Amino acid sequence: MKNVTDIRADFPILSRKVYGKPLVYFDNGATTQKPQCVLDAVDKVYKEYNGNIHRGVHYLSDMSSEAYEAARENVRSFINAEKREEVVFTSGTTGSINGIAFSYGERYVKAGDEIILSRLEHHANIVPWQMMCERKGAVLRVIPINEKGEIVLDEYYKLLSPRTRLVSVAQASNALGTILPLNEIISAAHSANVPVLIDGAQGIQHGIVDLKEMDCDFYAFSGHKIYGPNGIGVLYGKEKWLAEIPPFQGGGDMVDKVTFEKTTYNELPFKFEAGTMNYPAAVGLASAIDYVLSIGRDYIASLENELLSYANERLAAIKDLTIYGRSEHKIPTFSFHIKDIHQYDTGMILDKMGIAVRTGTHCAQPVMDHYGIDGTVRASLCFYNTKDEIDALADGIEKVKTMLV
Ligand code: PLP
Repeated sequence: MKNVTDIRADFPILSRKVYGKPLVYFDNGATTQKPQCVLDAVDKVYKEYNGNIHRGVHYLSDMSSEAYEAARENVRSFINAEKREEVVFTSGTTGSINGIAFSYGERYVKAGDEIILSRLEHHANIVPWQMMCERKGAVLRVIPINEKGEIVLDEYYKLLSPRTRLVSVAQASNALGTILPLNEIISAAHSANVPVLIDGAQGIQHGIVDLKEMDCDFYAFSGHKIYGPNGIGVLYGKEKWLAEIPPFQGGGDMVDKVTFEKTTYNELPFKFEAGTMNYPAAVGLASAIDYVLSIGRDYIASLENELLSYANERLAAIKDLTIYGRSEHKIPTFSFHIKDIHQYDTGMILDKMGIAVRTGTHCAQPVMDHYGIDGTVRASLCFYNTKDEIDALADGIEKVKTMLV
């Protein structure tokens, strides 16, 4: 098993300095860093076999197509989807959710129907549904959260009704780190014959995603959140849904036969992959998945759990620091505020110490409204982070306090 020093050596960017200080990268919720093997895999596509996929008879196109389809199989196996037809490549979580909101809405949603979301959602899992509701005359219903930042399940059960057409919730909150009770959410929805979409943007990086066990109907995630390249994402959908709903984009590759009178669509999953897909990034994502598997998912979880407890301990000991999101079921993400200090000031001073944190609403304004605040500082950790880095953050926060209070 690799120790953390060896793991860190796999990520070239982690050894760089920022303002002459060692980089402490605590913005993994926004995007993760890439191991060398991912950079190499993408580089190799462009250097050795770049050719547009699925269309050519020539050698390079064949090689690219093969690598792209192998990447799909890699993703399928990683998330434990039953069939490759159920794995659609997209541009990212946002692209996946927008696609389903459009296509599912077109096929199944009518005026007066309801979509259930939670108050913990990222804007990417709110706005596409709002847009669809406006088009269709449907209504959003929102599961409330408690002071700890957990959804209130009893209220959710009350929201499920014969008007509910779909439930769409995050696997974990990007703003607070709360892990949602997906078993309860999905089984209650299914008992009411309602399908469920899981926004896995913050879940894919931290946990074992087994879609056969989870049994959600749709699952969305981004490659860049799991050590893969930007510009690639995944939309998983159970075949029975993907076969029924219309495509969300038209163009090359998603068609079977085109005339000006009528177009018939390609088989799954290509029906949802219009235009030139980002095949180099798909290959990079496959390499990121191989990397995660080579480190070991259980090992990653144990490293992250250790960081979670240590950071909890260190941050809780800091006077005048409030942590938002106190659920016991959390990913290692910490949203906090220091009394009388604006989050941007904290973030900017920490940055000068080489510590990268995120500040603001984290694209989750309803969460901030719940607490009556206009933002937080967020430190989001992953397995390549260290306890020394957590110490650097805690010391940095103390310095911010002495400078500004
Ligand atoms: N959903 C959640 C929970 C997120 O954290 C994010 C990004 O931070 C997204 C959706 C959007 O992801 P992307 O910008 O990769 O599409």
